Amino acid sequence: MRFTGRVIYVTGGGHGIGRAVARRLAAEGGSVAVSDRDAGAAQAVAREIAETGGTAVATHCDITDTASVEASFARMQQQFDRLDVLVNTAGGDWIEPAAFEEITDELWEQKLDVNLTGTVRCIRAALPGLIASGPGSSVVSIGSVNGTIALSGYPYSAAKAGLEILTKSLAAKYGPKGVRFNLITPGTIRTRVWDGREDRLADLVRMYPLERIGEPEDIAAAVAFLASDDASWITGVTLPVDGGLLAGPMRAFAAASGE
Ligand code: NDP
Repeated sequence: MRFTGRVIYVTGGGHGIGRAVARRLAAEGGSVAVSDRDAGAAQAVAREIAETGGTAVATHCDITDTASVEASFARMQQQFDRLDVLVNTAGGDWIEPAAFEEITDELWEQKLDVNLTGTVRCIRAALPGLIASGPGSSVVSIGSVNGTIALSGYPYSAAKAGLEILTKSLAAKYGPKGVRFNLITPGTIRTRVWDGREDRLADLVRMYPLERIGEPEDIAAAVAFLASDDASWITGVTLPVDGGLLAGPMRAFAAASGE
C-alpha cells in the first residue's frame, strides 16, 4: 500500500498501459484521477477501480489542448486538494509513412504534439501541486525503446527521445523542490494497438531475450516502483522495461546467421 494518502493523475488512463497503471496505483492505496480524451473509457476504468474498493474519479482531458489540460488539473486539484504523482502515458499513434521524404510538416507536428508537447503541458499544469506536496512527489513518463535505438518511425521516435532529456532537465531543476522525474521506455506491449496483428507480434517476439511480448502490468509494476518512496533516491533516469531488447542485437545476429 505504497500510495495510501497520495493523489495520482494518470493521462491516457482509459486504455492499455494507462489503465493498468491506474488500477495498480489504486490497488496500492492511491486516489487516482483517471484522465483520457475518451471520457467514456476513463469513466469505465474509474468504475472498475471503485468496484474493487479503490478510489478513482474520471476526468476528460485532451493533452494536445492546453485549455483542456489546465481545466482538468484544476478540477482534480479542487476534488482531491493535493497532487503527489503524475503519470504521463497518453500518446502513441506511431504508424507513419516509411519514407522520410513523405513526412509533411503537419504530420511531424501532430506526432510531436501528442508524444512530447502534450506531456510538457501536463507537467506544467501539475508542477505547482507537486511542489506543494514536496518530497515524495514525482512524475513518471512513458517513452519507448523507439526513442533509444532506431527501430521504426521518425517523428514518433524523435518525440519519445525528447522525453529523455526533458526528464533529465526537470529532474536536475526540481530535485531541490522535492519532485523526482523518471522515464520508462517500454518494448512491445500487448495493448489494443496490436489487436489483429498477431502475426506481427509473433515476428517481434523473436527480438526479445525473455521470449515474450510485454503486458501492460509489466509497465504498471515499474511505474509503481519509480513513483513510490522505494525509489526516493532515483531521479532523472530512463528505465527500459523491454524484455531485454536493448541489451543488444545478439538475437538478431543469431537469426541472420541462421542459428
Ligand atoms: P492505448 O491506445 O491502448 O492507450 C492510450 C490511451 O491514451 C488511450 O486511452 C487514448 O485515448 C489516450 N490518448 C491518446 N491521445 C490522447 C490525447 N491527445 N489526450 C488524452 N488521451 C489520449 O495505447 P498504449 O497503452 O499501447 O500506449 C500507451 C503509451 O505507451 C503511449 O505513449 C505509447 O507510445 C507507449 N508505448 C506503447 C507500446 C506498445 O507496444 N503498446 C510500446 C512502447 C511505448 P483514445 O482512446 O481516444 O485514443
